[in-house]
Amino acid sequence: MGNIDNILNGHIFIAGPCSIESREHIFKMAKLVKQSGANVLRGGAFKPRTSPDSFQGLGKEAIDYLVEAKHKFDIPIITEIVDQRYLDLYDEVDIIQVGARNMQNFELLKALSKTDKPILLKRNMGATIGEMISASDYLRANGNDKILLCERGIRTFENATRYTFDVNAVAVLKEKTNLKVIVDPSHATGISDYVKSAALAGVAAGCDGLMIEVHDNPEQALTDKDQAISPQQLEEIIVKSKQIYDVLK
Ligand code: PEP
Ligand code: MN
Repeated sequence: MGNIDNILNGHIFIAGPCSIESREHIFKMAKLVKQSGANVLRGGAFKPRTSPDSFQGLGKEAIDYLVEAKHKFDIPIITEIVDQRYLDLYDEVDIIQVGARNMQNFELLKALSKTDKPILLKRNMGATIGEMISASDYLRANGNDKILLCERGIRTFENATRYTFDVNAVAVLKEKTNLKVIVDPSHATGISDYVKSAALAGVAAGCDGLMIEVHDNPEQALTDKDQAISPQQLEEIIVKSKQIYDVLK
C-alpha cells in the first residue's frame, strides 16, 4: 500500500462514492478508483444530511467495509467523523475527515487534536478563510501538523451550481498556512459536468490534491448522484491534473 505519509507529501487524489452503500459496492469502487489513478479511497459512513429523512449512512458497519477494502485493494482510506464518541471506530482509518457542517464543532476538533492521524478539514459553506484557519488551529493545538484544508465551495447568491467554488481560497491558504490544500470540485459545483473544470482550476491554482466523488452508476447513487462522475472521467481528470502539475513544476 502507498504509505500515507508519502502520499501526503505528493499529489493527493482522493476518490470514491459519497456514501458507502454496501460491502460489495465499496469493494467495486475501491478497485475502479485505484485503476483510475486515485491514491486514497473515500466513502461516507456517517452522513450529516440536511433532512433526517435522507439516508444517514451505514455507520460502523460501513467503516468495517471500508477498512476491508483498504486491505483487499491496498489503498489508504478517508472517512468522515461526526462525533468524538465514535473516535474508537477510526483506528484503521488513514485520514479522518471533518465535514463542512462540523468545521466549527470545537469539541470535536479538540478531541481530534489529541490524535496523531492526518485530518482533512472541510470549509463550512458559510465560513471565511480566516475562520477555517482558526478551526485548523484547534486541530494543531497539540502538535499534529498533518492537517489538510479542503475548499469545497461556499454559499453565494449564485444558484446555477450547488455552491460556488472559491478558487481564491487555494492561493490564500497556501500563502497563509503551511498545510496541505485539497480541492473538492464535486461539492463545490454539485453537477457532474462541471467537476472536471473546477478540479483542473484547483490544480492550476496550486492545490496539493483533489477529493472527488465517483460512482460506477451515478444515476443509482444513494447520495449526491448529480455530482458523481464515472471512473473513466476520474481517470481523465487525474491524467490532466498530473500534466498541469508537470507544467507548474
Ligand atoms: C462529503 O465529503 O461527503 C461531504 C459531506 O462534504 P461536505 O462536508 O463538504 O458537505
Ligand atoms: Mn457527498
